Order: sequence, then structure tokens, then C-alpha cells
Amino acid sequence: MDFQLSEHQEMLKSTVREFVAKECPRQMVRKWDEEHVFPKEVFDKLKKLGLMGVIIPTEYGGMGGNIMDYTVIVEELARSSFWGLASYFNAVTMYGADMILHCGNEEQKKHYLPKLAKGELLFAYGITEPDSGSDAAAARTMATEQGDNFVLNGTKMFITLADKADYTITLARTDKNAPKHKGLSLFIVDTKSKGYSAKPLKKMGGFTDTTCEVVYDNVVVPRSNVLGGPEAVNFGWQLLISTLETEHLEVAANSLGYAQATFDDALAYAKERKAFGQTIGKFQAISHMLAEMAVDLHLARLCVYQLACLRDANKPCFQEACMAKLTATECWTNMAHRAMQIFGGYSLMYDYDIQRSLRDSYILLIGGGTRQIQKNMIAKSLGL
Ligand SMILES: Cc1cc2nc3c(=O)[nH]c(=O)nc-3n(C[C@H](O)[C@H](O)[C@H](O)COP(=O)(O)OP(=O)(O)OC[C@H]3O[C@@H](n4cnc5c(N)ncnc54)[C@H](O)[C@@H]3O)c2cc1C
Repeated sequence: MDFQLSEHQEMLKSTVREFVAKECPRQMVRKWDEEHVFPKEVFDKLKKLGLMGVIIPTEYGGMGGNIMDYTVIVEELARSSFWGLASYFNAVTMYGADMILHCGNEEQKKHYLPKLAKGELLFAYGITEPDSGSDAAAARTMATEQGDNFVLNGTKMFITLADKADYTITLARTDKNAPKHKGLSLFIVDTKSKGYSAKPLKKMGGFTDTTCEVVYDNVVVPRSNVLGGPEAVNFGWQLLISTLETEHLEVAANSLGYAQATFDDALAYAKERKAFGQTIGKFQAISHMLAEMAVDLHLARLCVYQLACLRDANKPCFQEACMAKLTATECWTNMAHRAMQIFGGYSLMYDYDIQRSLRDSYILLIGGGTRQIQKNMIAKSLGL
């Protein structure tokens, strides 16, 4: 398998790198994090680069790119260490474009994809509930048929950008008598609907996006907004599983970019900070730590790029998706833990970026499926 980036991918990489250097300087990223602010104007400038439609086919107004193109962009965006930028980008490209492209019917693709390609719509992904995270199919949110509509009642938990999104893709039970995985459907819920409310929760990281509790109080959703069309009623779980590999890739590619940023910072610091008359990188304890960090990063990148290649080749890759999610998210958290040691006392200071990296890294370790769940799925794929 050849992981050499194409000329086009190199161009995408340098476009994003230049954008980040100009629009997201580190002192501003730090300030936005401290003030819990997402600078909309920066995101508007990113939209103008035309990257929002990266995976959307040209007939729907997109770039017609592949998953590797997407991966290269996300890795570079995350390398800015600016949480909100990659998060908003994913709200358009993954929870919007990828879900509609792979699960939507033709009418839904024609309606949503051209707007998503311009970055005009934000989507949230409403799966987790207060009583069901890892066990997502145990969702209790109910969708009851009423003529040409469904009426949704229930609560979702930890939903990224659910208060900012135009639509929240919502997993709800449409047949309470069917076996657990069979009576579920996905709905494209307009967040302006009466009875929909999203309340941001206080959290320890990811300050430049929001994580919400969402309440559905008799929210009326037209039958035409069943993701995949009316014939997809009760097939929501199967649709969701079909997108899991790309969702894992998204989390892994983000983690890779953030881990790279943390590594870059730690390496630069080790070459500059002096103790006992020499730079700390000369101490074997520190240099070995950096060597291990470089190895972890390399392994994570191989896992992520291999997964992107397998997805682009339409090859089965469920096991590789779980491995990439596990490897890249652990890589970032472990990277941040070691960088904390390299930066010593400064690592805890808000004027430095390492504490932010550590705080943010835990989100991707848990979001999209914990390490225990990834290991369960890998073990299952081994026939255990
Ligand atoms: C900041 C943030 C953003 C998020 N964004 C979204 C979003 O946009 N949309 C969305 O739908 N969800 C989102 N989530 C939810 C996230 O996907 C869940 O938190 C995650 O899947 C874990 O679910 P839980 O928190 O309910 O933990 P639980 O499922 O209660 O798990 C608790 C612990 O038990 C372990 N455990 C559970 N079952 C097993 C098992 N079978 N074997 C071994 N161990 C097990 C888990 O690994 C974990 O250690 C977000 C979460 C966070 C923190």
C-alpha cells in the first residue's frame, strides 16, 4: 500500500497549513480557548477555500475528492491545535455530508449536499442518551407515527454543536416491540422545530465548541426527513453502522493532527529549555520519551492513512477502523501526558498549550466509542 500523497493532496495540505498559520496563530487559539469563543469569521474564511465539499461529488456541487483528501485536510486543521475549527469542519463534512451522501436518498442528497458543499449548513449527530452511550442501540427516544409525520420525544446527551446546528441527525425508536437493533430510525431534525431545545454543558476541554443536552418535546418531523427516505424506517441502526468506519477515521485523523502539534511543541521545547548547563533534550530520559512519541505518531499515521486507503478502495475495514481509532486517540493522550513532563511546571500554565492538549485529548478518547469498546470490537472481529 502506497501512502505517498498525490500532488493534489500535497496542495491541499499546504493550503490548509498556510490558512492556519495566517488565521489561527497560537496566541489567538489560546485566547479563544480561555474565553470559550469560536471566531465565526475564521470559519467563514475557511469556507471560502472551498474545502467544505471535499467528499461531495461534483454533481452536487462538491470537490469530488476522496477520503484521503479529507484525511489530509483534517490532520492539518487539527495540527493548528484549535479544537473548534476541526470540530465545525466535521459538523459540515462528516455529520452533514458523509451521513447524507451514504445514508440519504436522492431527494435528500439534492436538497442538502449543494448547501453543505458551500458550508451553509451545520449538522449535529444525536446518538448518545443519558442512559445509553456505549450501548447506543438501547436508545429510548421515541418516534411515534402520526399521519405523514413522526413525533419525537426523548433526551440526547453530549451532542456536539446541537445548539448551533441547523439539523441534528437523531436516532430514535420507531418500533418498540422489535428487537433492540431493528426498531430504530434516523431522522433529519430541523433544530428550529417547536419542542427542540439544546443546552450546552460545562466541560473540562474542547472549549471552542459546545456539547449539549438535547430535549425533544413532541418535535414533529415529516416522514420525508427519515434519513434514507420512508423506506428506511426501522433500518436506522444498519445505516449508522455503515458509516462507523468513516466516523472512526474522522476521530483518528483529528487525533493524529493534534498529537502532531503536541509533539512539535514538546520537541521544540526540549531543544531550547536548559537545565544543569545543557538543553533538556540531551538528557536520555527526555530524548527517549521523545523517541517513543515519534514512534507512536508514526504508527498512528500508518493506521490512519491505511484506513483512508481501504475506505477509498471500498474494501472491508471495520477492524482497521477500530484499530486506527484506538491507536490515534491513545497516541494523542499519551503524547500529551509525556509533553506535560517535558514542559515541567510550565505545562500547567494557561500561557502554554500543553494543558489544553491534555484536556482536549480526553474527548476523542471517549467520543465515538471508548477504548474498551474499540477493544471489544477488535476482539469480536478476531472471533472472540
Ligand atoms: C465532549 C463529548 C462530545 C461528544 N459528542 C457526541 C456527539 O456529537 N454525538 C453523540 O451521539 N455522542 C457524543 N458523545 C458521547 C460519546 O460518544 C459517549 O460519551 C461514549 O460513547 C461513551 O458513552 P458513555 O459516556 O455513556 O459511557 P458508558 O457507556 O456509560 O461507559 C462508561 C464506562 O464503561 C465502559 N463500558 C461500557 N460498556 C462496556 C462494555 N461492553 N465492555 C467494556 N467496557 C464497557 C466504557 O468503556 C466506559 O469506560 C460525546 C461525548 C463527549 C464527552
